[in-house]
Amino acid sequence: MSYLEEDLKNSEVLNLDRTVKNIAVIGAGIVGICSAYFLKKSGFNVTLIDREQPGSMTSFGHACTFADYANVPVNYPGLIWDIPSMLLRKDGPLAVDFFYILKNLPWAISFLKNCKKEKVNKIANSLTNLLKHSQISYDEIFQDVNVKEYISYEENLYLFDSKKSYENYEYANIIRKNNNVKVRNLKKDEVKELEPNLADVYFAGQVFTGSRHTTNPLAISTKIFKKFLELGGVYINQNIKNLTQKEKNIELFLENKKLKFDKIIVSAGAWSNQIANMLGDKFPLDNERGYHLLFETEEKLINRPVAWSESGFYLIQIHDGIRAAGTVEIAGLNKPPNKKRLEMIERQSRKVLPQLKEVRSTWMGRRPTLPDSLPVIGKSQKNNNVIYAFGHQHIGWTLGAVTGKIIDSLSKDQLPNIDISAYSPGRF
Ligand SMILES: Cc1cc2nc3c(=O)[nH]c(=O)nc-3n(C[C@H](O)[C@H](O)[C@H](O)COP(=O)(O)OP(=O)(O)OC[C@H]3O[C@@H](n4cnc5c(N)ncnc54)[C@H](O)[C@@H]3O)c2cc1C
Repeated sequence: MSYLEEDLKNSEVLNLDRTVKNIAVIGAGIVGICSAYFLKKSGFNVTLIDREQPGSMTSFGHACTFADYANVPVNYPGLIWDIPSMLLRKDGPLAVDFFYILKNLPWAISFLKNCKKEKVNKIANSLTNLLKHSQISYDEIFQDVNVKEYISYEENLYLFDSKKSYENYEYANIIRKNNNVKVRNLKKDEVKELEPNLADVYFAGQVFTGSRHTTNPLAISTKIFKKFLELGGVYINQNIKNLTQKEKNIELFLENKKLKFDKIIVSAGAWSNQIANMLGDKFPLDNERGYHLLFETEEKLINRPVAWSESGFYLIQIHDGIRAAGTVEIAGLNKPPNKKRLEMIERQSRKVLPQLKEVRSTWMGRRPTLPDSLPVIGKSQKNNNVIYAFGHQHIGWTLGAVTGKIIDSLSKDQLPNIDISAYSPGRF
């Protein structure tokens, strides 16, 4: 019996103290796990619910970067003009299922509308507002949960494949500079000094000053989750089938039981809109699919995450090999993985790092994305007992802890110490 099954057995009888608020956190990705942790620390009765194992979905297979520099949204001025060439390039970062896009045209149009310069600046500013609290919020957890062995302080490197891509990046440099995000530009020989095993295929590089990454995301999620259980948190490994408002409470219908809570937190990542719909809320949430391949490695080949601009993925040396993770595919929630995208990442990974050995495994995940690239964090407009925390797109791993802190404040009916108006559920 796994520890999760044991916990489930122990939590079958929810002997909840009714003098303390009972909160259910729906979704045990990094956002839900961090929220549950902070809520439990504050003394709430907290039940975390997920139909999968904690931390095993999108929060498992990402590119491992604590990307507190990543304030430049995917929507950028001029994106609309770049899309045709991006799609025509077989090894480009973006792929689209046109039938899916046609069915979801309003989302695509709304996404493109957010590419106007003023909007992009505003989005970048709002992302910076969250990102600058991301490290300190994780460090609060890491004082309590020892994850030292899974964190590396070798700064993340962005590799430009050509002079053109280097020059095209100028808009991102300006946005970063305007928001006080520090980077260092590197000439080719400086990159070579940092990462001598990379093939001679790049033009230049950029390092994100002070950035860090994990070498084992699942181990970090699991350690925070276990601390939550140690603190008295309850975990239920079941699907949420429905929810209803019942007087002052919310009733949750699981596979084989019905439970009542004072409040719920919806942190179900790319599936959050399905939960919101059950309560009469509706969000323009879609998802950007991304992939990873894990290559066998016995030797240390790279010291830090290396992003490859031509195809939009990172190479990261982690505990069990070298992971190549990234790219964007718009194709909905349910389509099976696209083999061509995996083949492309493999081809390009071997171009950048020819020493790579066999592919051991592959993975696809779903980044929850709103058309303005900002998350939804805040109370439901319809129901004061429902708090939303989803839509963290490309930087959900980075923003897990800070989101958890905000959720904790909102659950206490306190104002968070960060202005969260830009993430309001009522903005659509
Ligand atoms: C290829 C790739 C690379 C990335 N790289 C980075 C990176 O380097 N740095 C970074 O910061 N971010 C990165 N991200 C983004 C990041 O991984 C996500 O934003 C983040 O993991 C989202 O976390 P989450 O908790 O919102 O969702 P998830 O981890 O997906 O968790 C949601 C949970 O809700 C559960 N759930 C849904 N519906 C129900 C239901 N009805 N009943 C019960 N449970 C339910 C699911 O089972 C799931 O476990 C990357 C993403 C991808 C795909």
